This record gives sequence, C-alpha cells and structure tokens, in this order.
Amino acid sequence: MRFASLGSGSRGNALLVQSGRTRLLIDCGFGPRALAQRLARLGVVPEQIDAVLLTHEHSDHVAGVAALAKRFSCPVYASAGTRRALARRKIAVPCLEDIDGTTDFVVQDLQVRPYAVPHDAEQPTQFVVSANGLSLGVLTDAGSVTASMRDALRGCAGLMLEFNHDSAMLAQGPYPARLKARISGGLGHLENRVAADLLRAMRGDALQVVLAAHLSETNNDPHHVATCLSKVLADTSTVWQIATQQAGSDWIVLRA
Ligand SMILES: [Zn+2]
Ligand SMILES: [Zn+2]
Repeated sequence: MRFASLGSGSRGNALLVQSGRTRLLIDCGFGPRALAQRLARLGVVPEQIDAVLLTHEHSDHVAGVAALAKRFSCPVYASAGTRRALARRKIAVPCLEDIDGTTDFVVQDLQVRPYAVPHDAEQPTQFVVSANGLSLGVLTDAGSVTASMRDALRGCAGLMLEFNHDSAMLAQGPYPARLKARISGGLGHLENRVAADLLRAMRGDALQVVLAAHLSETNNDPHHVATCLSKVLADTSTVWQIATQQAGSDWIVLRA
C-alpha cells in the first residue's frame, strides 16, 4: 500500500491511497485543474480514481468532489449527515454511496473502517484503510481525541495526523476571538501537543511512518511540528514527514 497527500490545510485537502490497482481519494478539496496537476505529480490521472471517501462537508474537503464525480462517474462514499449537509449547500454529487459511519466496507482491494470524530460538521467521519494486513489511519479535523478514536488508530502502519495549531500562536495571532474559540474548542482542530500525546500512545513496532497534516498557515510553524515529531518518535524506527498546502507529500510506501 502507498499513499500521498495532494495538499493539506485550510485551503484544500485530498489524500490518495493505492493498493494494487485500486486508487482511493480521501476528500477532494481541489477543483478539476488543480486536482489534475497535483495528481500528475504522482503519475496519476483523474480517471484512475476508483472512489472518493468524504470525511465531512467543509469546503476545504469537498470543493472539487461534484466535478470529479460528474466527469468520471466514480462512487463517492459519505455519511448520512455529510450527504444532508451537501444537499443543503446545493452541492449535487452523483453516485453517492451511503455509509453509516461505523460499519466497515470494501472498495475493490481496500477495506475501509469509518470512525466518528468530534468536529463542527454534521456527521464527521474519519477512516482507517487496510490492505494485505497493513493499515493507514487518517485523522484530521477533530477538536479532541476520544477513546474510540485511539482504538480505531491503534496498530496502524501509517498515520496521517492533524497538527493544526500551536496554542500560543493561535492565542497571540490575528484571528477574531470567536474563530480562536472555534478552532481550539472540542469541535475544532487538533493542537500540536494534543496530536503529540495521541502519537505517543500509538508508538510501537507496527508504526512505520507518520504524515503530519492540516497545519494552519497562520497559527502554526512547521518547525514546532517537527520538534514535536522528533521528540515523540525519538528512539523509534518510525519516520515522519509534514504535508504542505502547496505540495502535499511524495508517495509514502508501507511495507509488509
Ligand atoms: Zn479541514
Ligand atoms: Zn473541517
């Protein structure tokens, strides 16, 4: 299995996961042209996407999904709450497939386990994707960490984990008070130290690689995130990268 971020942050998110001939996109926050350009960097064309999984309805995750699904008729898997929210916003996605947010399902070569997270969307759902005994856990857009989230992510070989903001930078930064409260609240985004604590609990021989994601360009500094990752993963064989808004990441391979 391999995966790559096409770009991550409040201006657009998409994660490509491949096993065998199956290519899944988790979220599609980029319009057709940007999506094609970002995929081309990884040697993929949009028509090779077999399905899209949506985590929630915020525009940085869904901005390009209707165009992609219309053009290539690929199925789009979303929770009932996400589907309702898309309908309210008049985002018409053809080929919507229902998921109930807790039951595993299969997309060709990949098994998908959805799990619920606290975030200010209608039914936010994150995913663990598995093939051939290897799992990639994905967690962005969560205001806090619950026991069931820890359970879902335990034992993964790869983790894409939100390091959204540094609490001091957010507090001293330019955002209005209400927005600061939203971001740092229980339904907002993961703070660096909260993400680091979760990662500390996930350390182990199984964990090959961590991709830090959804960093705020205003309220975070990649150097702070790098410091967190180096500290938590010192004395382990786990490697790490930071996904950027502009360039995402290269392909990251999980080895059996
Ligand atoms: Zn987001
Ligand atoms: Zn969100």
